[in-house]
Amino acid sequence: MHPRVKPALRRGWRDLTTVQFGVTRAHAVVLGPMDPATAGLLDLVDGTRGPAMLRAEGERLGLPGHHVDQLLSRLAEAGLLDDATGGGEPAAALRKHTEVLDRLRPDLASLSLVDREPTGGIRKLTARRGVRVQVRGAGRVGATIAAVLSGAGVGRVDVLDGGRVEPADVAPGGLPAEAVGERRDDSARRLVRRCAPERPPRRPRPFRSASRSELPGCDTELGRKAGLDGRAGSTQVPYEDPGLSLVVLAPRDGLAAYAPDPRLVAPFMDSGTPHLYAGVLEGTGVVGPLVLPGASACAGCLDLGRAERDMAWPRMLAQWRSGRSRPVQACDLGLAGTVAGLAAAHALAFLDGGLPASAGARWEVPLPELDWRPEPVEPHPDCPCGAARRGNPLDVWEEPADEREDTSKEVEPHETMAL
Ligand SMILES: [Zn+2]
Repeated sequence: MHPRVKPALRRGWRDLTTVQFGVTRAHAVVLGPMDPATAGLLDLVDGTRGPAMLRAEGERLGLPGHHVDQLLSRLAEAGLLDDATGGGEPAAALRKHTEVLDRLRPDLASLSLVDREPTGGIRKLTARRGVRVQVRGAGRVGATIAAVLSGAGVGRVDVLDGGRVEPADVAPGGLPAEAVGERRDDSARRLVRRCAPERPPRRPRPFRSASRSELPGCDTELGRKAGLDGRAGSTQVPYEDPGLSLVVLAPRDGLAAYAPDPRLVAPFMDSGTPHLYAGVLEGTGVVGPLVLPGASACAGCLDLGRAERDMAWPRMLAQWRSGRSRPVQACDLGLAGTVAGLAAAHALAFLDGGLPASAGARWEVPLPELDWRPEPVEPHPDCPCGAARRGNPLDVWEEPADEREDTSKEVEPHETMAL
């Protein structure tokens, strides 16, 4: 192990003996009291020395060996320590590809804040390389989501859409103007390849059935509690590809994201494939819900709940769905970009093993105020997905209270390190 104080957090002294790591409320930690010799040692915990060398350095500064060990364990407890050489074989392989790692360093630094373990960041980053995501829809929103996921290190991003690229599909970060007239799926595939920090293999890897517990995003305690492990099984999966960790549904027609048709996602519900909706409908951006089949509200729950609150909803929906498709979608380019960015961030948070706020809620952002609002989406007792029968289903996905407390505390010098 080569300990390193997480470089992602700015360091500053609140007073002569109290050091604060980080700026923002969500991730800042305050440690103290700290004497000058310990503070000097802190500068040497930069990933270039192992514990033995740090102990030797500590002695030179007049600090006994156990004091150095105590400092390291306290830093680790506070989630402030990285291991510059840990993370196993995949991490070692990634570190050799410096041009790839250089592209992903900001993502790695960010992951090191989300995961408090010394090798958590690099492990999550390398896990992304084994993930497979499908994005359905290659318009302004969908293509940009695919590009962001690919650029963030997701190993395989498949984009499905029909037809040919139209001028209105072009977006910065999405399909380029040169793609107009090309097949949408071909064009999106090239976009994904161009954005990837490393060249993925041209040919798909040989088919391998992954059990749900092997899939990132479902390999956590939370995933097991939610019953996602084993749902997909290893052989008898009805959907054609059990290796999908997530499907992002970002249809070019925003109505299909705002009022999704439950019949279209029946295969994902059957196979237990998590899926996330995103789109822009008539000047309103939507991200969510993230559906964890059987554990959180799905498109069917959404539909039943809406019909309960508005008797005319099914009749209206039938008219909207059967009507002639809109020749022009009201889809502000800035709004499409922010929806794509937030949807991709929610997707990554889930793939990295977290539970983003789109599970059980839809985030809506209407023009022109552009204030994100959560719209809770409750499991419906009549929905065959069964999420309502799990009691309070999202409880099992929530982080333990003590961890939540750690990441949301005020920046106050209440973390003390007795040295
Ligand atoms: Zn449901």
